[in-house]
Amino acid sequence: MSAGSDSGADIGVIGGSGFYSFLDDVAEFTVDTPYGPPSDSLFLGEVAGRRVAFLPRHGRGHHLPPHRINYRANLWALRSLGVRQVLGPCAVGGLRPEYGPGALLVPDQLVDRTKGRTQTYFDGVPRGDGQQPNVVHVSFADPYCPEGRAAALATARERGWDAVDGGTMCVIEGPRFSTRAESRWHAAQGWSVVGMTGHPEAILARELELCYTSLALVTDLDAGAEIGEGVSHTEVLEVFAENVGRLRDVLFDVVGRLPKDRECLCATALNGQDPGIALP
Ligand SMILES: [Zn+2]
Repeated sequence: MSAGSDSGADIGVIGGSGFYSFLDDVAEFTVDTPYGPPSDSLFLGEVAGRRVAFLPRHGRGHHLPPHRINYRANLWALRSLGVRQVLGPCAVGGLRPEYGPGALLVPDQLVDRTKGRTQTYFDGVPRGDGQQPNVVHVSFADPYCPEGRAAALATARERGWDAVDGGTMCVIEGPRFSTRAESRWHAAQGWSVVGMTGHPEAILARELELCYTSLALVTDLDAGAEIGEGVSHTEVLEVFAENVGRLRDVLFDVVGRLPKDRECLCATALNGQDPGIALP
């Protein structure tokens, strides 16, 4: 499948907790990849004159925990449909009292605290199809697309949502939430929010020369930042449900604002290095 056809798209949206339906009128496509199947079918439709592919990150029914999501398959599947710009809304916990439930961050940094997730396509290991990736090193100093971030911030603010410009997302392995000690430590580092899916999603997008923008919706104050019982999954889903319509509106508008011609560094992230495998 290629961009421009009915089965193609140029913008991808990877939904998060409580965020399974994004488009009203969609065509469903099953996509396989050299890394196995993605989390679910991809749902294609048109928003603001752009073709959008939506992928439920945890699968419909939320059956995949963060550490079992096939991130490589997800990003590969999006790219194989023609996607070059990815929006990644996700639910996070706030590490500062001012980032309470309902706050929206467009982070500019991340810290990887995951364990044992496959975080590269370029591991030198031959794939099932016989292609063997080279060892490639990609710059990740600024993990998010500057154009996507600017579009997300401008859009949210236009809609009256005072989105936080920047901040660091700490990504933990999960599926458990943090202990109070871990949460206090994360906060003491100056990190802003904590999530479970932002890595390796962002780096795998970068390795495929995709733009990636994170929109982090705070659903709770993390254990160290609140007084009370700590985070519960029910609480996370409730806050997400309250804000999902608002977030959907913002995402629709961001889609229309993303530049059609990319001038950001994401587009040339491999910097001329030979990946050894053919990118779709
Ligand atoms: Zn970009």
